[in-house]
Amino acid sequence: MDTAGRADRRTLLVGGLAGATVALTGCSSTLAATSAISASPTPRPTTPAAAFERLMEGNKRWVSGNLQHPDRDPDRRQFLAQEQEPFGAILSCIDSRVPPELLFDTGLGDLYVMRTGGEAVGPVVTGSVEYGPMTSGTALIVVLGHQRCGAVKAAYTSIREGKPLPGNLQAIVKALRPAYEQAVRRGDTDPIETMARAQVTLTATDLRSNRDLAPLVGKGALAVVGAYYSLDTGKVEVLTGAPS
Ligand SMILES: [Zn+2]
Repeated sequence: MDTAGRADRRTLLVGGLAGATVALTGCSSTLAATSAISASPTPRPTTPAAAFERLMEGNKRWVSGNLQHPDRDPDRRQFLAQEQEPFGAILSCIDSRVPPELLFDTGLGDLYVMRTGGEAVGPVVTGSVEYGPMTSGTALIVVLGHQRCGAVKAAYTSIREGKPLPGNLQAIVKALRPAYEQAVRRGDTDPIETMARAQVTLTATDLRSNRDLAPLVGKGALAVVGAYYSLDTGKVEVLTGAPS
């Protein structure tokens, strides 16, 4: 998607989701593409619950060390060369220790991945998160925070001490202010940890209820999960929104 993608997408969606899919992916036949994808050796989860289960099973393997490294070979690359249909969209931190594809043990073409400092969002990031659910049936969004987040700690300190961070870093601080305020209101013993978790739940709640995603959530085609990753154990803990 180019920088005008958001406006273009709105126009496209007026003509229906199928039309948008064709236009955005450049695929000449949505039906043919769907058939090809469904022939994948690892079937794509099509419901929020199945997508969630796939990710959590992968995380169990990551924790135990019993990894499958699925769908990461040249066959998979060739299979996906013309078309993709990721089943999940992950919004996580830039932290080098939190790579979604590794900690969920997923393969090529499984996930859309957005990474920003402290999972900070703005229009471009939100549009990127919305892309899969709105155009190709991606059934799950996970907002993934993590333990000892440097971005959250820096933002907390900046706001508390009234010292803006230099340059564009301040945009991250600004985006994390609602989480800071929630943490201060709660008054827990570890406010930075509380702020990191608040950033996850606030962001997941905003996505779940926004104008474009709420209808998909309402009809059961999409779940927005807030989750938290432990650097110590490798385990992903669900904070909010697990599909049943
Ligand atoms: Zn972080």
